[in-house]
Amino acid sequence: MKPVKYIKNYIGGALVPPDSGDYLDNVSPFNGEVYSHIPDSDASDVKKAVEAAERAFPEWSTCGAEKRFRILTRLADIIEQNLEDFAHAESLDSGKPITMSRSVDIPRAHSNIRFFATAIMHFASESHHMEGDAINFTLRQPIGVIGCISPWNLPLYLFTWKIAPALAAGNCVVAKPSEITPMTAFLLAKACDEAGVPPGVLNIIHGLGPKAGQAIVEHPKIKAISFTGGTTTGREIARIAAPMFKKLSLELGGKNPNIIFADCDFDKMIFDTLRSSFSNNGQICLCGSRIFVERPIYEKFKEEFVKRTRFLKIGDPFLPITDLGAISSKSHMEKVFSYIELAKVEGGEILCGGNIIEQEGKLEGGFYLSPTVIEGLPHDARTNREEIFGPVVTIMPFDTEEEVISYANSVVYGLSATIWTKDVTRANRVAEKLEAGVVWVNCWLKRDLRTPFGGMKSSGVGREGGLEALRFFTEPKNVCIKY
Ligand code: NAD
Repeated sequence: MKPVKYIKNYIGGALVPPDSGDYLDNVSPFNGEVYSHIPDSDASDVKKAVEAAERAFPEWSTCGAEKRFRILTRLADIIEQNLEDFAHAESLDSGKPITMSRSVDIPRAHSNIRFFATAIMHFASESHHMEGDAINFTLRQPIGVIGCISPWNLPLYLFTWKIAPALAAGNCVVAKPSEITPMTAFLLAKACDEAGVPPGVLNIIHGLGPKAGQAIVEHPKIKAISFTGGTTTGREIARIAAPMFKKLSLELGGKNPNIIFADCDFDKMIFDTLRSSFSNNGQICLCGSRIFVERPIYEKFKEEFVKRTRFLKIGDPFLPITDLGAISSKSHMEKVFSYIELAKVEGGEILCGGNIIEQEGKLEGGFYLSPTVIEGLPHDARTNREEIFGPVVTIMPFDTEEEVISYANSVVYGLSATIWTKDVTRANRVAEKLEAGVVWVNCWLKRDLRTPFGGMKSSGVGREGGLEALRFFTEPKNVCIKY
């Protein structure tokens, strides 16, 4: 399970080159060097993958939940047994600290698969009795061939979050990982082979979004699309898929507020706020990037938060002491940096960080940014409205509950929010009023895979997680029987 020089597509159970014979460079953000090549796939490769999936569907969709459970559980075990190889590949591809790949990304990938393998064994559908003369029951059947498209920030973690429920429910899948982080999806293909996933059940196509990704969205035989990525891409996918009446699940961008009341447990709050700001370089869709602090503790918060941010270690993703590794790509680093420049133009003050770090030695050429804290911007500045998706946060004081709720809800996004207070009544009141699909109170990123997950407004359509995912990946059909 080691990284390879030439990544291949996985179609009909075989690792194959792209039809065109063309490859793209795969750059490691660790040092900016091209270390492997990715198939530059197009509609022709997608067509073959869909045909393979269609051939596999009749058997996979009817083989029974227990058989699917066994195969998927085996797949989860293989990932777990090869955790170190997967973690190494993930960090090389994405620049994230190996400690995070080892403790979060890869463990979560195999637990996603195990979770949905188990869930399908317990999945039951509704029945509705009609006063003595008829009964309705809901058949939930697999849809057919599903397209799954995922981003680069949590590569294998989010890839499996879609693929696992789709397969467990009896569908066959054509999936595309991000072209920026393709390696663990390639290793997953190898693991499928070892686990005995029947040929064609899962097909993995590599390549660019507007080419390979769009071919998946456009293919008429793909009946549903599960997408995680940027809001602009989600809009484009919806534009193509909606007139074809495809089922759509869209998990999109965010600009999440952290709301900190003066009565919170300060030590716990500061520890978690540092995590929610800079974990994975702020490249988690759930990171809180707008930090609102009640005025009585604003100065104390600012001093302590900036001090702790300055302590964070930025550098070699493969060293255990590293807190922040590399930014996933050069173009993304430049985009994030452009927002730091914008913040200055808008009148913000950079309290710490704010610069690109030119590394030396083996990290030379890599993409490193210092974690950045900005103050002095109004809540409606562009820096506070647009998704930056990097190690950049703004801090702002507030005076009243009503005021902070209106600031929090003033952006187009509505993915997640965090509230810090010891007052449970207030926590409930604020949680009810926040426009966010996920609200954490006195914690952050505490995830239970059974809960609905997703955003409102421009953060997405539909929910993943638990039974929501199994419902999305099945077609409900009501059968009414008269006695
Ligand atoms: P992106 O939208 O650029 O790309 C995501 C995936 O879509 C990639 O595989 C890409 O190749 C593909 N793609 C791009 N254009 C396409 C097209 N026209 N048709 C089909 N596929 C296409 O996003 P990204 O930069 O990889 O990821 C970062 C974004 O993802 C951020 O906005 C972040 O908030 C969001 N995100 C959201 C969640 C969530 O659960 N809501 C989770 C993680 C990341």
